[in-house]
Amino acid sequence: MSVWESEKQSVLDAARKMVQQGFVVGTSGNVSVRLRDTDGRDLIAITPTGCHYDLLNTSDMVVADFDGVRLEGEISPSIEMMLHLGIYRARNRVNAVIHTHPAFGGVLSVMGIEIPSILDDQVTYLGGDIKIAPYALPGSKELVQNVVSALGPRNAVILANHGALAVGRDLREAYTNCEMLEKTARTYIYALALKKVNLLPPEALELEQAYFNYQFGEDH
Ligand SMILES: [Zn+2]
Repeated sequence: MSVWESEKQSVLDAARKMVQQGFVVGTSGNVSVRLRDTDGRDLIAITPTGCHYDLLNTSDMVVADFDGVRLEGEISPSIEMMLHLGIYRARNRVNAVIHTHPAFGGVLSVMGIEIPSILDDQVTYLGGDIKIAPYALPGSKELVQNVVSALGPRNAVILANHGALAVGRDLREAYTNCEMLEKTARTYIYALALKKVNLLPPEALELEQAYFNYQFGEDH
């Protein structure tokens, strides 16, 4: 049994939950956590590619180093492993990444509409506006650059014509941020459809962003 058994179980549980919740269909999406081995080296545990999550068990989860070299698991890792690694490299305090194909986030990804800061919980959980990473092919280096850059210091981002991605200090937080992103997208789409959107008052936005930076900022 792997020393990472409980981490692999958490990754698999989150992947199954995102299917049940309708955040992805079939074998899409991917979930990872950052691991640290006894030498203090960063590793990743990530879902494998092209498999129905209900048919997998923990031994199918892939463990790899930050160069992408597979250390555990028989199946190839998700094709977005380099995207997950790029985010872990750019964001020291992020320890979990979840990439989904949600319905409402998907609408905005197709329309190319970013979400301004409209709700208190959006700002305190996700960090403010939801940006859109310009389109690049799945699995490409360009996609890694586009997503890391559009995510910036925040906890969620939309991928143009593709889906969404959320991060957290642990897997539970990353999952909550996926839910928060989809809820925010749904609210914004309904508000746009009803043709009236009021932004958050600037004073509230400033306070909430200060709180977010205190919680999630990389500089402390
Ligand atoms: Zn995808």
